[in-house]
Amino acid sequence: MEKIFIKSLDKEINIDPWREANLVAAEVLANFIIETKLGEKIINSEVTNDGFFVDFVVLKNVSEKSLPLIQGKIKKQLSKNVEVSSELPTSMIKGFELRGVSGLKLENKQANRIFGFATLSLEQFDKKKLELKEREERDHRKIGKELELFMLDDLAGKGMPIWLENGVLLKRQIKQYIWNQEKKYGSEQIETPILGSADLYKTSGHYAHYRSNMFPEMTVEENETFILRPMSCPHHIIVYKSKPRSYKELPVRYAENVKQYRYEHSGALLGLERVRAMELTDSHIFLREDQLKEEIEKAFNLIQETLNKFDIEIDYIELALHDIENKEKYHGDHDIWVKSEKILKDFLDTQNIKYKAMQGEAAFYGPKIDVQIKTALGHQITVSTIQLDFLLPERFQLTYKDANQNQIQPIMMHRGLIGTYERFISVLLEQTKGNLPMWLAPQQAIVVPINNELHTEYALKVLNLLDEADVRAKIDLSDERLSNKVRTYQKAKVKTIIMVGDEEIKNQSVSYRYYGSEDTHTISLDKLKDIYM
Ligand code: ZN
Repeated sequence: MEKIFIKSLDKEINIDPWREANLVAAEVLANFIIETKLGEKIINSEVTNDGFFVDFVVLKNVSEKSLPLIQGKIKKQLSKNVEVSSELPTSMIKGFELRGVSGLKLENKQANRIFGFATLSLEQFDKKKLELKEREERDHRKIGKELELFMLDDLAGKGMPIWLENGVLLKRQIKQYIWNQEKKYGSEQIETPILGSADLYKTSGHYAHYRSNMFPEMTVEENETFILRPMSCPHHIIVYKSKPRSYKELPVRYAENVKQYRYEHSGALLGLERVRAMELTDSHIFLREDQLKEEIEKAFNLIQETLNKFDIEIDYIELALHDIENKEKYHGDHDIWVKSEKILKDFLDTQNIKYKAMQGEAAFYGPKIDVQIKTALGHQITVSTIQLDFLLPERFQLTYKDANQNQIQPIMMHRGLIGTYERFISVLLEQTKGNLPMWLAPQQAIVVPINNELHTEYALKVLNLLDEADVRAKIDLSDERLSNKVRTYQKAKVKTIIMVGDEEIKNQSVSYRYYGSEDTHTISLDKLKDIYM
């Protein structure tokens, strides 16, 4: 609330300037829509943190093109102090902008939503405009469209992203790096099915503790029921258990490129950030107690190194602990909880790593270290995780033989380096505004002949050289004008546009431009691949 002096009333009133300005603006717009017969009736009108919107049943469809005209007319009305239900004279609104229009179906009728924002000061207007522009530029859903990375379609299923060629290429680059990391760390690669028997999840305890996040089970024959897997841990346990183990072969580390499915309410879904179908490289490590300290340290270093590679800064570390009161979620041996939590705590303390301890945030099977980051749009999310588990080895009766031939229960560790590819890519896109570093960019080069008739043969030769050097490149032989082509590839954020014409053929060279730069460089053919090193 702020005290604002209202001249016409000759007094000060207490108002929230943002809310009041947008309420008034929405009201004036709603009246305008009815008076000018753009709409039959107003269905809804609201003020949000981003401004206001008005939904109405259409008589005349409003297009983006007609917005400036409507905006001009509303501004004129505002300056005239038209009657509104607020105490605020409309002329106090100094900043006003209509930002867009979208079509929607409401009450089974064709409707439009016009949205915009209003402010009482020009200074605030400029600030908000910049903030909204910045957010729009970083929105991974918008970037995903421009770069043709992925799509979502309700008919295919809500929260079920479909990856397009460029998205697959980007994912492949990330996966390859993650796999190299896993290999360096000593993981064995395995592959397990996306369906698991219901008994598998009953044994693991997921059926009892995690069911609200799982899709319903499917029964195919009497006594045979399957579940679409929400995680891969139980499968990896089955692999560990498939033969007798000796203390000498521990730690055993499995990693898998997992496709998994989790049920989220449709209202919670958000682009790639919150989905129902996801993929991740997940690993599970089975180890002896005396190996725990070293293994946690290794896992933590690997996480740091990996996030560094992608220029992602750790915001803070969360130590997720159990809640002794919550017997339903955290049953089992109290001593085991205390012991495992102490191991993680000691590790963080001896490494001088600052963390936030969170009671009641542990998984049902054990405590964990979650690596939290802050996305460019300010969302707090977990990317990497190290989780200790004393419960699943017990439930599945895992053992190894120690030096004295005793059967001992191993400890299990769940480790995720970057979380799901879906969420991680949304983070990368928002962080880079889609201008991905060269090694990740799905399209590194586009070859454009200046004149198709004269230069196609040479352009194909250039493309061939790029292919041989493993550069992700395409050629454009369409009849579009050169300037249009350049604009298209700038928008798609292709890292380099390579142009070839008479001069380049003569010198056996290419001319090229980096994304976002107007400067043209020249390089000889034999050095071409240096651009992409
Ligand atoms: Zn796991």
